[in-house]
Amino acid sequence: MDTLDKINQKLKEYNAKLVSVSKTHPVDAIQKIYDRGQRIFGENRVQEILEKKDSLPTDIQWHMIGNLQRNKVKYIAPFISMIHSVDSERLLKEIQKQAQKNERVIDILLEAHIAKEMSKEGMTKEELFELAEKIGQNEFPNIQCRGVMGMATYTDDEATVRNEFKTLKLFFDEIKNGILNASTFDTVSMGMSGDYEIALEEGSNMVRIGSLIFGNREYK
Ligand SMILES: *Cc1c(COP(=O)(O)O)cnc(C)c1O
Repeated sequence: MDTLDKINQKLKEYNAKLVSVSKTHPVDAIQKIYDRGQRIFGENRVQEILEKKDSLPTDIQWHMIGNLQRNKVKYIAPFISMIHSVDSERLLKEIQKQAQKNERVIDILLEAHIAKEMSKEGMTKEELFELAEKIGQNEFPNIQCRGVMGMATYTDDEATVRNEFKTLKLFFDEIKNGILNASTFDTVSMGMSGDYEIALEEGSNMVRIGSLIFGNREYK
């Protein structure tokens, strides 16, 4: 059994989905993982998805996991399967507009800031709940809010990571119980190569794993 098999076995135990994070990796590497049965791939740059997608099978579900600029939403709106990184009402409005233009409903996740690092993206708890309320008022007919996403602090301190994941799961439960109690609000996207097992233990049902599957990234 190799790493991908091990990850998939673990995910089965928790009934969780895998987003194979293919950023920086070429299409032949993605094709290899596709041939092993993976269908969900995550990228963090619009330009990179556009460059890769036409050389790859059309049944790949592309997930946008990185910071998304409003002026680039139009390029991915025709095909994107899920946007994990919604962190403002302005961005959500643009996704709504472009989804409507394409006569689609786009799945999104609300990104919460749970880490200690300031650099990590995402909304504060207040912003998160405020935006969830707006979605609850049906202001976005072409958007389906599927859940929340977050990144833990990059640290060896397991207690810190675990606590941050607990916090995100609590946010999810609170929104689900009080604001968006649809059966389609069902996704907790948390856990990466270094911390996905902790994330699963804390209630993740979608992990985003890159380097464990593809090897280390080389940034040019
Ligand atoms: C790169 C990235 C990942 C995957 O990171 P690995 O440590 O390589 O598994 C997950 N989520 C987001 C938002 C990322 O940008």
